[in-house]
Amino acid sequence: MGGKMKSFFKNRLSLKDRNGPLTKELRLAQNSAFGMVPERLNPERTLPSICGYCSTGCQLDIHMQGGEPVNLSASSDYPVNLGMACPKGWEALTPLKASDRGVVPLLRHSSEGQNPVSWEIAFETFTQRFKALQQKHGNEAVAWLGTGQITNEEMGLLGALAKFGMGWIHGDGNTRQCMASAVTAYKQSFGFDAPPYSYEDLEISETLVFIGANPAIAHPILWHRVMLNPNRPDIIVIDPRVTETSSAATLHLPIRPKSDLTLFYALAHLMIQEQWLDKDFISAHTSGFDSYARFVEPFNLECASRETGLEREVICDLARRIHESKAASFWWTMGVNQGYQGTRTAQSIINLALMTGNIGRPGTGANSITGQCNAMGSRLFSNTSSLFAGRNFENNKDRASVAGLLDIPVEHVPSQPSLPYDRIIDAVEAGEIKGLWIIATNPGHSWIDQSRWLRLLREKLEFLVVQDMYYSTETAREADLFLPAAGWGEKSGTFINSERRLGVIQSVATPPGEARSDFEIFKGIAEHWGCGEMFESWKSPEEAFSILKKLTIDQPCDISGVENYDMLVEQGGIQWPYSQALAQEGPAQPERRLYEDGRFFHEDGRARFIFEAVQSPPEPTDEYYSFWLITGRASSAQWHTQTRTAKSLILRELSPQCLYVDIHPQDATALGIQQEELVEIKSRRGRVRAVARVIAAVRPGQIFLPMHDSSVNQLTHPSFDPYSRQPSYKACAVHVQKKS
Ligand code: SF4
Repeated sequence: MGGKMKSFFKNRLSLKDRNGPLTKELRLAQNSAFGMVPERLNPERTLPSICGYCSTGCQLDIHMQGGEPVNLSASSDYPVNLGMACPKGWEALTPLKASDRGVVPLLRHSSEGQNPVSWEIAFETFTQRFKALQQKHGNEAVAWLGTGQITNEEMGLLGALAKFGMGWIHGDGNTRQCMASAVTAYKQSFGFDAPPYSYEDLEISETLVFIGANPAIAHPILWHRVMLNPNRPDIIVIDPRVTETSSAATLHLPIRPKSDLTLFYALAHLMIQEQWLDKDFISAHTSGFDSYARFVEPFNLECASRETGLEREVICDLARRIHESKAASFWWTMGVNQGYQGTRTAQSIINLALMTGNIGRPGTGANSITGQCNAMGSRLFSNTSSLFAGRNFENNKDRASVAGLLDIPVEHVPSQPSLPYDRIIDAVEAGEIKGLWIIATNPGHSWIDQSRWLRLLREKLEFLVVQDMYYSTETAREADLFLPAAGWGEKSGTFINSERRLGVIQSVATPPGEARSDFEIFKGIAEHWGCGEMFESWKSPEEAFSILKKLTIDQPCDISGVENYDMLVEQGGIQWPYSQALAQEGPAQPERRLYEDGRFFHEDGRARFIFEAVQSPPEPTDEYYSFWLITGRASSAQWHTQTRTAKSLILRELSPQCLYVDIHPQDATALGIQQEELVEIKSRRGRVRAVARVIAAVRPGQIFLPMHDSSVNQLTHPSFDPYSRQPSYKACAVHVQKKS
């Protein structure tokens, strides 16, 4: 057995016993998870900045000396994190110093690989190649793939530049991978993509139901907020696996993968049978309940127990707990969103909150927690699936409104929305999209059915531009043109977190070499494309912020009452909406939830009950591919494709040391697999090797692989929710065998 495998089970708890020069730093990282303040270096000044990893949106105080960031600590007076940060936050500065940072544009010459060129040549090449493709094949022959990791101002400028300045139709973001189902569910059910909650709800709810969510790992600071709840709350976890969160729960329901929709329909049926309803709320604030009640009739306990694998009594117990709670809240993440019926599953959760009146009151809500630091900003300002600030491309009034606010001809605003991410990839395969610009994302690692995508990047595209901090990602290595970008900490702007809170990120370090902020790169492209004049008023991130504010006026996400960045910093971030009218009433309350008046965003003010028949899995198990593969997060020290977190020795030490697979002892025995032995996992699309962790955290017939390893998406099945087009990462059929 190699050294890598021997150290496989090393984890953060064993670090306290380690000696050597790193011990102090490692202990610091351990402490960080529990909110302890590190030693400071007598900073000359401290600059607060929102963390650039996850959607929790913690604020970090960056300590400066001699104009350089030397350390950081978690802001104790910020209403989100209250002095806490997870290991990623504490290590946020480290990835800036990595040796594989892009420091100069790189251009591929056919036989010589990628070679350094000047920005002038890079911009000229970008412009000439994309314009040539558009002239020859039309505007639909090019597309961009963006991200939830850049600022609102950068997203806004990119979306305006590509669509209004360069005439592109198609552009989507990696946010499609994490929360598109929640977006679609909210839009259809509430009339706008507007999550109702504030983080305070975690602390005051009596009953918290987590569905397909493992916040102890994925959103550790939100989990801390649950731990601060003084009500000794009932914590219920609905998840096929035993997780860090379910281990601390008062009730864990280990359902069969993707049987959650059946469970929620059965719960609705049970609630109706028992008359455990808020009839006044249903009648005053919703529509479609009677049809829903008829629809869920067949979902009796027998059906629910058969499909979910749960005992009837457990399902009844869950219903009773929700009914008896004065304030129940429902929280979901990727276990729901990344499903082939993710939208309808999210809506079945929303339906439950509506019929029990658990929305618009403290401690309640149907609450999607999103993933990336600015996924919520992408929802409003990326100009991809929605026109700016939640408008529609197909709506003439909306197009005219945006054109008027930006002072551009309305003909520049496309009247069709972009293809979603997966359809862009299909169009690449079909030869319809020939040029692609990928910004701050690494789909060569993260996209479902990864091998197909990498093949298309290599074989089908005529021109691929990748804009990223690092030249070494799986995607950047394929680029014809690489544009080196500044990262978090090297630029300023705003993010929006999961509870709709706008916060400021600050530039505390200088980008290496010739790297530029994404904002500056977009400005440079605009100038070379010949549409720079259209973006003259987007002079700086803060001036761009003023433009974005204008675009939100009279929309549900109105932030026109936010004066400037200073106001956001002084008030500890501000949740949308914060209109000029609200600002006249005084500073924003630190925690605000939506729908307190029972009015939703549909024209009639009512929320909708939306439902649909339960579908069979797109790729069922069979005699050979007999296991369900579940993927998910493995550690709070890793982030997505590890593009940044793997740069930190501390975070690497806190993470699994190699790819492992969780397999139930019963299955391991049947297959002759011992603890820590090498296992081969095969799907119809690829095969990977992993070290066996024989553990009853998964049920028989299921295995779990962490999503952070670059090989895992060779296995996943390319199926998608039909409404949100979000990939269904969470369940596909695989064959498992001991590696001989
Ligand atoms: S990664 Fe998320 S939880 Fe961790 S410090 Fe950053 S914002 Fe907070």
